[in-house]
Amino acid sequence: MAEGRIIKAISGFYYVKSDGEVHQCRGRGIFRKKNITPLVGDFVVFDKNNPDEGYVLEVKPRKNELIRPPVANIDQAIIVSSATMPDFNPLLLDRFLVLIESKGIKPIVFVTKKDIISESQRQLIDGYVREYQQIGYEVELLSSKENLDELRKLETYFSNNVSVIAGQSGVGKSSFLNAINPLLQLKTDDISKSLGRGKHTTRHVELVEVADGLVADTPGFSTLDFNEIEANELDECFPEINEQKPYCKFRGCMHNKEPKCAVKQAVEKGEISNKRYEHYISFLNEINSRKPRY
Ligand code: GDP
Ligand code: ZN
Repeated sequence: MAEGRIIKAISGFYYVKSDGEVHQCRGRGIFRKKNITPLVGDFVVFDKNNPDEGYVLEVKPRKNELIRPPVANIDQAIIVSSATMPDFNPLLLDRFLVLIESKGIKPIVFVTKKDIISESQRQLIDGYVREYQQIGYEVELLSSKENLDELRKLETYFSNNVSVIAGQSGVGKSSFLNAINPLLQLKTDDISKSLGRGKHTTRHVELVEVADGLVADTPGFSTLDFNEIEANELDECFPEINEQKPYCKFRGCMHNKEPKCAVKQAVEKGEISNKRYEHYISFLNEINSRKPRY
């Protein structure tokens, strides 16, 4: 009996990494009875059985799990936004931040393509970077076209962590991963990416090594709706709003129409960004106007 972590799952086989070695395993029927499907990222107990085929016997409790991509026990999500092409989009960034915060996963923001922005664009982006850093987020402005020495400085973000990458198409997710780990050779232009996803291609996810950590090779959070977030949980997904919340006059304050709201006061004093507050209100309206699910 040994313990390890599933790093790849494909066609009924689980590839379990344990002490630096990868073991090909099948799942025992017990999972179907218990309604547990082992996921990539799971810590498991397995029976090495024989050199080329073992059995996963037990899945350890998970700290979290994602459906897309199907990965368990994620430490952090790296949201990739581009400074340009496509334009930096704070509304979309906040949407990703909320989705990630709501899962209890730590977000980190990487802003790419700094090599192709003008001086005035640079000032605008630097302003955003500072704003998000003030909230407490880790933010890096980078270029994947940079030399490897520069990029290596970012390796510390991956050390001993399991990360998923999120971000809209074209912002440079694959380019960044390829730049930091040239062995990956992920496809980087849209045409070959869509070819790789033909009807008969089995979609699977794999944890690949980046620096001393593991990264899911399929981007996460492809559905960007708030169907799984309740209105009264939304303020917890904005750290700076959550911080003011205890000072609101009314318990259960939604920071919208309520009087004596500490959040609105902080916005007036300029302690909370107007834009972030506007995004909070627009997400709140979106959640409140959603049709009941049953
Ligand atoms: P993805 O869809 O997020 O995986 O984006 P890709 O990695 O496929 O990149 C989309 C396009 O942006 C490609 O043409 C890349 O060469 C380009 N690109 C990505 N990152 C950078 C960067 O930091 N600087 C520049 N100049 N181009 C980049
Ligand atoms: Zn309030």
